[in-house]
Amino acid sequence: MSAYDVLVVGAGLAGSTIAERCASEFGANVLLIDRRPHLAGNCHDPVDADGLQYHQYGPHVFHTNSEDVIDYLSAFTAWRPYEHRVLANVDGRLLPIPINRTTINALYGLDLDEAGVTAFLDRVAEPRAAIRTSEDVIVSRVGRELYERFFAGYTRKHWGLDPSALDASVCGRIPTRTNTDDRYFSDRFQLMPSDGYTAMVERMTSNPRIERVLGVDYFEIADRAHFRHVVFTGPIDAYFEHRFGKLPYRSLRFEFTTHDVEQYQSAGCINEPAEAVPYLRTTEYKHLTGQRHAKTIVSREYPSDEGEPYYPIPAPESREQYRKYALLAQRTRGVTFVGRLAEYRYYNMDQAVASALRTAEELVGVVRAAS
Ligand code: FAD
Ligand code: UDP
Repeated sequence: MSAYDVLVVGAGLAGSTIAERCASEFGANVLLIDRRPHLAGNCHDPVDADGLQYHQYGPHVFHTNSEDVIDYLSAFTAWRPYEHRVLANVDGRLLPIPINRTTINALYGLDLDEAGVTAFLDRVAEPRAAIRTSEDVIVSRVGRELYERFFAGYTRKHWGLDPSALDASVCGRIPTRTNTDDRYFSDRFQLMPSDGYTAMVERMTSNPRIERVLGVDYFEIADRAHFRHVVFTGPIDAYFEHRFGKLPYRSLRFEFTTHDVEQYQSAGCINEPAEAVPYLRTTEYKHLTGQRHAKTIVSREYPSDEGEPYYPIPAPESREQYRKYALLAQRTRGVTFVGRLAEYRYYNMDQAVASALRTAEELVGVVRAAS
């Protein structure tokens, strides 16, 4: 095992980007491991027995404003344009989310133009002196009633916390629009990898200098193997044996069903803001993958505290706790922490790649010295 210059723990987007850079750019020999039996981490998109492609860990829609990230990934994939659209089930009516002109007019039986919607929102919005929480950000944009209908229940279900306990950035990432733009994201690039994420990651990590070993947990080999440098993309608290206590993560249970129809629903996702509905959203993957097939695969996401650590929790207390781990990580020589779980950041895919690209630059000296 010492034939390797770098051990990368985790073959998700962060780990695969680091492995690719170290091997292709710095000429290092890399061992890339993952405790799961597949590449691509949470973006893994297998094909089921019917030949339907789906996302094993929930809907993953690629969107970014970063030209650097697009340029980097474009070496490993072609792209298919895809603009994600989401409807919220509000008292049995399917309305566009993000809230836009169509949402307001349909909900209140109005026929407002853009200026009318701006005036409407100005009237209902509740100004807040400081925007600290997810409640602040939404109530100050659209008022309490729309907050209750579209955000409060969904957020309590998703995170197990009231929006007033979560950073403004959580709900703040959902825009409010006064026009009829009903795309879920506003980013400059909205694309899906043509053959999927796993195929893209497979190409990223196919350099002969990278050895990929799947189904291996780092903690099972850590005592037996010595590496000059380790890049860890798993949960940072697990790396340090939870010495400052377990960091909170939110998990999901996915329920997949296949339907004998070409199309199951009219949008990629239907969100369920009502707290009485136990799941968050229904996703039909064919919208995302563009696949044509006589059948269709659909998932529902049930939030939970138990299970895989999918979501770091953006809130003041967990951030304080994470800071202790981050300080320890800074003092730990020979190990670099990067990615959504290791940095404890609610990263989108492009942010995980961008962070890994930055980190790879910092590693160049370390890796070249080692090899
Ligand atoms: P991960 O993909 O989690 O990879 C880390 C890997 O490390 C895992 O494969 C894990 O098995 C492995 N690992 C951990 N511990 C060990 C160990 N001890 N030994 C060996 N291996 C280990 N982003 C978007 O941009 N758009 C979306 O639409 C979107 N939707 C999402 C929906 C859901 C339900 C979730 C959960 C996330 C979504 N994301 C989305 C975020 C996206 O999944 C992440 O940004 C991205 O996957 C982070 O990559 P990563 O490599 O940091 O982490
Ligand atoms: N959100 C909401 N209602 C919605 C959609 C989103 O309240 O219909 C809030 C919720 O708190 C959620 C956050 O906005 O966790 C971010 O939503 P996003 O769809 O980006 O979540 P993810 O794709 O990461 O699961």
